[in-house]
Order: sequence, then C-alpha cells, then structure tokens
Amino acid sequence: MEAKFYSTIDGQVRCGLCPHRCRIAEGKKGICQVRKNDGGVLYSLNYGVISAMALDPIEKKPLYHFHPGSYIFSIGSLGCNFRCLFCQNYSIAQVKGDGWYETFPNISPQVILQKALDSVEQGNIGVAYTYNEPTVWYEYMYNVAEKVKEAGLLNVMVSNGYIEAIPLDYLLPLMDAFNIDLKGYSNTFYKRMLGGTVEPVRHTLKAIVEAGKHLEITYLVIPYENDNPARFREVAAWISEILGPNTVLHVNRYFPNYLLDTPSTSIKSLLELYAVAKEYLHNVYVGNTGLVEHNNTYCPKCGKLVVERHGMHGNPIGLTDDGKCTGCSSQVM
Ligand code: SF4
Repeated sequence: MEAKFYSTIDGQVRCGLCPHRCRIAEGKKGICQVRKNDGGVLYSLNYGVISAMALDPIEKKPLYHFHPGSYIFSIGSLGCNFRCLFCQNYSIAQVKGDGWYETFPNISPQVILQKALDSVEQGNIGVAYTYNEPTVWYEYMYNVAEKVKEAGLLNVMVSNGYIEAIPLDYLLPLMDAFNIDLKGYSNTFYKRMLGGTVEPVRHTLKAIVEAGKHLEITYLVIPYENDNPARFREVAAWISEILGPNTVLHVNRYFPNYLLDTPSTSIKSLLELYAVAKEYLHNVYVGNTGLVEHNNTYCPKCGKLVVERHGMHGNPIGLTDDGKCTGCSSQVM
C-alpha cells in the first residue's frame, strides 16, 4: 500500500509521518523498518499484516476511565519508530531485514470489522490498535478505524505519541480514546533510551485533549533512569497544568526485557512517585504490581468504591451508565 504523508526529493523520499522525518534512499527503509522507498514511491510494508489479535479487557490497554469492565477487540502488526532498550514487545516491534511481513496473516479491514462486530455480544465496544506502535501502521489503522466508526463502534489507540501534527490531525476525528506512553521527562532520556525526543509526545498529548478525546497516560518507571521524584514532580505538574488535573495517569512497574537488565522497579519507588503524582492529579494508578487498592477507583467526593479491579478486569459496581457515583451522584468519569 502506498504510504500517506511523504514527499520526493532527487529520487529520495522524505517520510512525514513521524518526527524522525526519515530521508529514505531508493530501495531502503525508514527507521521503523516498515516503510520502503521503491522507485521513488514510499510503501507501507505492514499494511494488513496482523501479528496478534485478541478480545482484551479495556483495562489491559490500560484504560481505567473509559467504559470500565468492557472488552475491546485488539489488533497489532509489526514495527516501531522507537528503539526502546526496555521494549516489552520487541519480537513484533523491533523487526529487521526482509520478508518478515510474509510470515504473518494479511487481513482486510472489512474482516477486522466483522470480527469486532461478532464479539459485541461478549462485551466488545470496538477496536484497539495496540501491541506494536500503530503510528507506523497508519494507513491500515486509518482504513479500519473508518469502518469501525461507520459501524457505530469505538476506536482506541495505544501509542508512544511520536507522530507528526498533520497525520495526527487527520486521525483524531476517528479515534475515541488514547493511552499514550510518556516515557521520561527529558530529551536526554528519550535520545539515549529509545532514540527520539519528548516534545512531539507532549504536542500529541495536548492535541488529544484539545480535540476532546479521552486520554490516559502511562509512565513506566525505570530504576536510575526516570525515577527521580523531583524530576517526576515536574512531569505531574505539567500534566496537571497543561492537560488538566483529571487526566488519568498510570505509574507502571518496569520489568527487565530486551536489551535492559536493570532489576525491576521497587514497590517503594512506585509508591513514592504515586504520592508525588497525587499532589497534582486526581486519578493516579499503580500498574503491573497487583496492588489492589491502587487500581480501584473511588468516588473523589464521597469515597465510595465505584470500580473494583482484579488483575486486568474491572467491575463497575458503583457507577451509573453515564459515569456518576451511585452513592452521591458525583461525576467520576
Ligand atoms: S514513520 Fe518510519 S519511515 Fe516515517 S519518519 Fe517515522 S520512522 Fe521514518
């Protein structure tokens, strides 16, 4: 499939999909390894390529304040525009070489829609683009999302937020909710640990909020790298001031994976950052730990337990259909 968002200069193409803005010579690929210049035309190599699909609890994305207790038909492909040393999905995200896309099924957008519709009876609310980085799957995600929206279902994007402003503007009307990784507080961290910069991610977060879409943020805490409480305070303050104090933040535990063998985050460190975040934000959760009380949702006004969570599953025991507390009628989500 020909890619969107590129220009041609002297036989080379310049991709405009993400802030890397790769200049790609004839026969070569961009940093993501899934966009190739073939005869001066940029192609998406992973169009329709499905590496994984499953009906997941919405809490697994994680989205805690968006249809809690529901399910979402989740699909992923191959490739990523980051090179996180700690990548949790490296077998599908960090692809290299040629021919890999032929070893996975190629499934049309119409078939994905039908699978999503077939699982509505099991609690499915739509389609989530997740597992690898969906930005580098843009054309396919866009085509599926159009069909999903037309059918009256919801679209969810789980992303690193590293996307150029114009492609994001085109995508926003189709999407209903986002979980975006904010991986650190500095360009130094972004450059060294994953090969990017933080400003475009901040722009994406602001654009999502300005478009009125549901946003939750995941912050993966890596010991010695992005766990400084004073610097994390700046992150929480920025989220509160720019995105709003009701923004949902998931402070998540890291486990060693891919190229990073630093030991996993301590519960003490997670709870310290949780306490810092709670000074600025109303909705903070601690993920990947099994800490039950830090994953439940309580009414901010009367303290009633409104959503209890066990593992990846949410149970909205004290919420009305329009997100109000059944105890005091306050709007919770
Ligand atoms: S989407 Fe891929 S090819 Fe395009 S700029 Fe980003 S990394 Fe480069």
